Amino acid sequence: MEYSCSAYELKCNECGKSFGNQPLSACDDCLAPLEVHYDLEAVRAEFTREKIAAGPANIWRYKALLPIPAGFEPDLPVGFTPLVKAKRLGKRIGANNLYIKNDAVCFPTLSFKDRVVSVALANAQAFGFETVGCSSTGNLANSVAAQAARLGLRACILVPADLEPAKILNTLVYGARLVRIDGNYDHVNRLCTLIADDYKWGFVNVNLRPYYAEGSKTVGYEIVEQLGWKLPDNVVCPMAGGSLIRKIRKAFNELIALGLVEDKPVRFFGAQATGCSPISTAVKQGTDYIEPQRPNTIARSLAIGNPADGPAAAKMIAATNGWAEDVSDVELASGIQELAETEGIFTETAGGVTTAVAARLYADGRISEDETTVICITGNGLKTTDAIANRYEFDRAVRPRLADFAEYLEELDGVREPEPELVEV
Ligand SMILES: *Cc1c(COP(=O)(O)O)cnc(C)c1O
Ligand SMILES: [Zn+2]
Repeated sequence: MEYSCSAYELKCNECGKSFGNQPLSACDDCLAPLEVHYDLEAVRAEFTREKIAAGPANIWRYKALLPIPAGFEPDLPVGFTPLVKAKRLGKRIGANNLYIKNDAVCFPTLSFKDRVVSVALANAQAFGFETVGCSSTGNLANSVAAQAARLGLRACILVPADLEPAKILNTLVYGARLVRIDGNYDHVNRLCTLIADDYKWGFVNVNLRPYYAEGSKTVGYEIVEQLGWKLPDNVVCPMAGGSLIRKIRKAFNELIALGLVEDKPVRFFGAQATGCSPISTAVKQGTDYIEPQRPNTIARSLAIGNPADGPAAAKMIAATNGWAEDVSDVELASGIQELAETEGIFTETAGGVTTAVAARLYADGRISEDETTVICITGNGLKTTDAIANRYEFDRAVRPRLADFAEYLEELDGVREPEPELVEV
């Protein structure tokens, strides 16, 4: 299982050993993660602002710097989600130049995982896998199931048994086989490594992980293009495995190297839930050693206790003079409400974490008010409604009469006590 390609290949992040293109995620010498490396000079003529602008309004406009095997014709319009200026949230948290990259509305399954899955499945097909799968904290399961269905691939997806019901249903509906594992994500992931070897299946975030991870770069390309080919000062990004935050920086560095954007320092800020915060804990302690944790948070999509790219993410954050923070489950639920009430964007628990962490970073003076800051909202609130359901009550029904409505409003506003004879029926 291998294909040849002159544009890119896998290399070890530590020792630089080359591996060509094959379904493999770690170096056999030093066990470090493999990463896709490109011949940047070879794509220089292809990857220009003009050619990108003339491309489709989706991630495939950046195809020249994605590991897409020859002959694969991408036709799913993934990504190119809105970058919106967040004036009202900014006012609330003391930020004058705040933007939201809104992957809550990513196509087709409402999270940024659609980006990584489309790149991984292109490679799964090139390697000849007929069955694909993943170990998932939820969003990845949804996206693999949906995109496998469209490509006519069989999907087998493994998740922790206690995943949110909406994320389970959002996987089953596409006809995927879903296996609930009695354990946490880290147990599931370890099992998937064994299954991938034994059954010769293509697991997008296991043996196809280097290709999968490259899909996250498109968040970075889009941010720069949507800012008018400028880099922001800061990026605030949620972290689970620690891949997305690193790949946004890789995208920025590639754009700088190719002369598409003027170089300037960009600081990266990682966001986690306190109940699963191995990376933010390492950053705060000034180390890139990740002490694995047993997750205990409602932010299930970020609940990876032993993150594969944790050390690299912690190192990168420190190298950019950034920081990482974590927030409680109560704070993340308030973050969901705050983003919805100020910007009209309903995000899932991960986005609540990111919003609450951003607020903390401004409050603590780690980001100053006039800097240009992009916060990455990565998933949709309709998948995790349980996180805030207990904060709202279904109020009593009102009779369809104007007087009853008026009375009800007064009751809500507490303007005056309702007339007893109107209440009594
Ligand atoms: C997977 C996921 C992340 C984190 O991605 P990593 O690359 O594993 O750090 C963030 N937000 C949401 C909603 C996710 O599903
Ligand atoms: Zn190596």
